[in-house]
Amino acid sequence: MSHTLDIAKINQNSATPDLAQDGLTTPSDEALPNLVGMPRETLKQILADLGVKDKAIKMRSAQIWHWLYIAGVTDFNDMLNVNKDLRNMMAERYSIERPEVVEEQISVDGTRKWLMRMPKQKGDLVGHEVECVYIPEQTRGTLCVSSQVGCTLSCTFCHTGTQRMVRNLTSEEIIAQIMVARDRIGDWPSMDRVNDSNLPQTGRMISNIVYMGMGEPLYNYEHVKNAINIMADGDGISLSRRRITLSTSGVVNFIDKIGEETGCMLAISLHAVDDDVRDVLVPINKKFNLETLLEACRNYPGVSNARRVTFEYVMLKDINDSIADAKKLVTLLKGIPAKINLIPFNPWPGSEYECSEWEQIEKFAEVINRAGYASPIRTPRGRDIMAACGQLKSESKISRKPRIQKGDAT
Ligand code: SAH
Ligand code: SF4
Repeated sequence: MSHTLDIAKINQNSATPDLAQDGLTTPSDEALPNLVGMPRETLKQILADLGVKDKAIKMRSAQIWHWLYIAGVTDFNDMLNVNKDLRNMMAERYSIERPEVVEEQISVDGTRKWLMRMPKQKGDLVGHEVECVYIPEQTRGTLCVSSQVGCTLSCTFCHTGTQRMVRNLTSEEIIAQIMVARDRIGDWPSMDRVNDSNLPQTGRMISNIVYMGMGEPLYNYEHVKNAINIMADGDGISLSRRRITLSTSGVVNFIDKIGEETGCMLAISLHAVDDDVRDVLVPINKKFNLETLLEACRNYPGVSNARRVTFEYVMLKDINDSIADAKKLVTLLKGIPAKINLIPFNPWPGSEYECSEWEQIEKFAEVINRAGYASPIRTPRGRDIMAACGQLKSESKISRKPRIQKGDAT
């Protein structure tokens, strides 16, 4: 029996993928560019191009920013203090709508997963599907966002790694995941707090963002950077940069840069303590080995005991879970202000690994604890809806037959 409380399939028939016969997007079925998630400077440029006078641009962009990120409007006509002509001009050329939510799943533990279909962009054969997960706790809520459709890296224990890379998400599409989540959990100042004991009872509904969904964020550097800067913008979503964490499998040449340019927190998918094992589990290790990776962590901008690097370590039975491995882990991380997250392996259909025995995870954790690291085991959330770490995988392919045939749509 499924443990899923409620699986709501929404709008299932409403957006039949409209494949052009020749397999190419035609200008007529490309979506208008979305203003939500565009850098502020781009928005200002757009206003200038629409004829807004130099001295009014700052004020107009501030008003629009407020409507988009504080009020969460999805219709230009709701921007009441923006004159009608400008609203109309923007509406002809741009969109502020949300992507379609194809499916919403709610776990017994309150975790929510949304499958969204992004509007078609130039070159898209279909509207690509992306997953995003919300993990609520009593006083905080974490949103796990995707940065790519699929992933080019093929870590052998990760479900997303089995999916072909389709394309990078734009900063608009990354921010859209936050906006959809806010819509679905009622996280706008104008809305009353939803009466649901699984949702945070105090504090911000989405207090933390982690780039731990589909994709390798540092392979999509510019868009990921722009999206972080929008999340942290004090006149909009206004999240503390210390509550935005980027997880990377170890794209070392961009680690320092993302720290310099965004001030976000860093998480490293470590998963092994020697190069031989890591070469297999996280193949990018062949390009950037453990020594190079740990050096980049040691030098991460702003790293300190108050701003530690998180090391994620998936517990794989008989692969990386021995006591000797635990001891080596502690030795390797010496001198780096670090947190360690032991992640019980989350299985997925066809995966060739097993999760370590619970007893073994505890023994491993004890070694880590004794070395001074607190509560390192991460309890899996949302496993029943395949929303846990590494279980995400959308159906998006580079090309595929539409799931719903034309004519079936209601
Ligand atoms: N590509 C980035 C971010 C996405 S993966 C990265 O690799 O860091 C988010 C985290 O989930 C990573 O630490 C990843 O190694 C881990 N993960 C992947 N598959 C998993 C699985 N099946 N069980 C547990 N954790 C997994
Ligand atoms: Fe990609 Fe991260 Fe999965 Fe590796 S663990 S395949 S980098 S999403």
